Amino acid sequence: MKNRSLLMIPGPIEFDPAVLSALGAPTTGHLAPNFIEAFGQALERTRTLFQCKEGQPFVLAGTGTLGMDTACANLVEAGDTALVVNTGYFGDRIGTILERYGAKVTHVRPAVGAHPVLDDVERTLKDGKFKLMTITHVDTSTGVLADVKSLAALGRKYRALVVVDGVCSVAGEELDMDAWGVDVAFTASQKAVGVPPGLALLVASPAAMSALKARKTPVGSYYADWNNWLPVMQAYEARKSAYFGTPAVNLVFALNVSLGQILQEGLEARFARHVRISRAVKAGIAALGLGQVPLGDAIAAHTMTAPRFPAGVTGADLIPAISKAGVTLAGGLHAEIKNEYFRIGHMGAVTQGDVLATLGAIETGLAACGYKFEKGAGLSAAVKIFAG
Ligand code: PMP
Repeated sequence: MKNRSLLMIPGPIEFDPAVLSALGAPTTGHLAPNFIEAFGQALERTRTLFQCKEGQPFVLAGTGTLGMDTACANLVEAGDTALVVNTGYFGDRIGTILERYGAKVTHVRPAVGAHPVLDDVERTLKDGKFKLMTITHVDTSTGVLADVKSLAALGRKYRALVVVDGVCSVAGEELDMDAWGVDVAFTASQKAVGVPPGLALLVASPAAMSALKARKTPVGSYYADWNNWLPVMQAYEARKSAYFGTPAVNLVFALNVSLGQILQEGLEARFARHVRISRAVKAGIAALGLGQVPLGDAIAAHTMTAPRFPAGVTGADLIPAISKAGVTLAGGLHAEIKNEYFRIGHMGAVTQGDVLATLGAIETGLAACGYKFEKGAGLSAAVKIFAG
């Protein structure tokens, strides 16, 4: 496929051929024995990926926003209080969803690109009595990586259920629900999980399932109600079938292949690979003289990079020029800085070769825009990282 562009946006990403071929296999019924086995195994592997031994996995047809929606719908009753640790666009979105289900929402919202000060979060938790707190692990609009471990510890201390939007992190960034005390985490198939768009993956801790049982009012969404899906997930894990809504059969087969690959690689090795890839991208970007949206390396995601345009270069010129050089990148998303930066996704099956192709295309694009820089500096910086 000579005219094919390399897809390096923060989801969907480039997918492994074995995953795509599972997706393209003839569709079975959702009661077929091989589907029951694949779905059961995918649920077990989802629990392992999220590192939540007693957690209840849900794999639902829908996007990452369904993950957000189903977490909020099941945990919130009208009048409940929620704290949103807000590091960008997706913090705003989960705040809106929480409000839709009747929650009173407080945001801790640092400056764009900053990480919230832990003391500010603690003070807010101490002053309010929050039923739950949400954290966006990687906010895809800023590339800020939240310190979920420390934030979740604060949430626990003040008895809030801890909900993590892991759409741009799970299977790329370290996330250990059990060790860190996370009650609900969710992601979407098209990101580091490595499956085309269409599945939401969520794991709920025993405390989150108890909160569901303790509700006084019905869940405000029919499709998103865990009570409807729980018997289905339990049945498939027990290698039986059950029906509520038709499972996305082909996507589930593909998911099971991808989860198998992820666990085969090993979570620790996988997180370390994402760190290495990210360091190479960021070293390359810095060597070209470009800044980044996150205000410091320690709070920058490893699944994506959000470089700022250099003076005199606009996204309208640069992104098409990079595309012409063979790589598709994404523009800005955060309303306040939309035209000041662009986004590179580097997660899942991403390789060193993909990183070098991307940096090469960025250099070619920058040159086409008339930006003055030392040609090859970005590539050389990345090679130095890979060469150790
Ligand atoms: N949360 C985060 C952090 C995301 O990056 C995204 C998607 N970019 C979503 C939620 C929503 O996912 P989807 O687009 O699949 O609905």
